[in-house]
Amino acid sequence: MNLKKLLWPHVSEKEWNNWQWQLKNRLSGTAGLMRLGEALGTDVTGPLKAIKTYKWAATPYYLSLIKSKDVLHDPVGRQVIPSPKETEAPSLSLASSDPLREKEYSPIKGLIHRYRDRVVILATSLCASYCRHCNRKRQWAQPECITVSQKALEEIKGYLSSKPHVREVLVSGGDPLLLPLVKLEFILEALRTISTIKVIRLGTRVPVTLPMRVTDELCMLLKRHRPIWINTHFNHPDEITKVAKSAIERMQLAGIPVSNQSVLLQGVNDDYETLHRLFCKLQEIMIRPYYLFQCDMVKGTTHFWVPLERGIEIMERMWAHVGGMCVPNFVVDLPDGGGKARLLPSHLLESDGGEAVFSTFEKRLIKVHLTHTYAPQV
Ligand SMILES: *Cc1c(COP(=O)(O)O)cnc(C)c1O
Ligand code: SF4
Repeated sequence: MNLKKLLWPHVSEKEWNNWQWQLKNRLSGTAGLMRLGEALGTDVTGPLKAIKTYKWAATPYYLSLIKSKDVLHDPVGRQVIPSPKETEAPSLSLASSDPLREKEYSPIKGLIHRYRDRVVILATSLCASYCRHCNRKRQWAQPECITVSQKALEEIKGYLSSKPHVREVLVSGGDPLLLPLVKLEFILEALRTISTIKVIRLGTRVPVTLPMRVTDELCMLLKRHRPIWINTHFNHPDEITKVAKSAIERMQLAGIPVSNQSVLLQGVNDDYETLHRLFCKLQEIMIRPYYLFQCDMVKGTTHFWVPLERGIEIMERMWAHVGGMCVPNFVVDLPDGGGKARLLPSHLLESDGGEAVFSTFEKRLIKVHLTHTYAPQV
């Protein structure tokens, strides 16, 4: 199936590769879903029900990566087409709208401070496409706001100046790479005036859902404000297209390292083969797989949840057989605002001070005499 041909048969290559054309021609709301349903010849009653609670918009580019007509069972389609399950009962009773308690850890508007040395700022509420598994779905009810206000930014600056132990700011949202460049520059410059802020990290899904946004002009801006790290969000190997690769390469050539955070999602990437392909392909384009998240227990996302044991089983194979540079940390963001907890393989089976037993990656046991090997020198 070729959704580009079905929905935009007359678009020129020039328009297609223009990010503003992509944003302007997003499918969204009831009209967008009806158009999609017509093109696919399928019933969209279920998706229409879901968008009464959770809004919908998607770029033509990202929609064009859907390969199967059965969109809710396609790895890209599932991430971007609303499912009736988002608003069904189990989804509402089991989950919370803010399990990470981000509101509680927000000392001032638009800033989340949960860990001592780093904060998150929410620079915009706009996204190119709205991911159905998003853990900030609770904010979608607000109107799309292009950018954090001047006043809010002043408050953020004041707060950060009074907290010199904060050394890193994660600029998130929404998607900060959708900000008008003057606004983005304004924010980065404001952060750079605080001498205790050493590193800026941008969280963005633009390389995945709107890669043509990564223009030379944007890259030059980022280059001027280094050290900047980018964390993006590829979840499936089909998302690593030629256009996406070239966007990543432009950022890398501007001196910006790119890492990736994936979410383990049922029906998208909850099997070894898919994740293995994803992580290896990321390494091949010099993106470091940084985190694989267990899906947060957020309302409207229960149909994406994968049992923890399954994630561990997949990662156990990965830990044993795949080079370390391809393997992200497997992390659960604990509900109740408990913070991130890493799941790591433990090769140390027992240790009693004198002797330790290790299991090798091939499950062979090796005894190590600690007193002999690691005795302190006296
Ligand atoms: C995840 C997160 C961070 C960043 O944590 P890292 O482990 O450094 O990636 C910072 N603040 C909040 C509130 C977070 O949820
Ligand atoms: S791009 Fe990020 S913030 Fe926006 S909908 Fe997707 S996961 Fe949520």
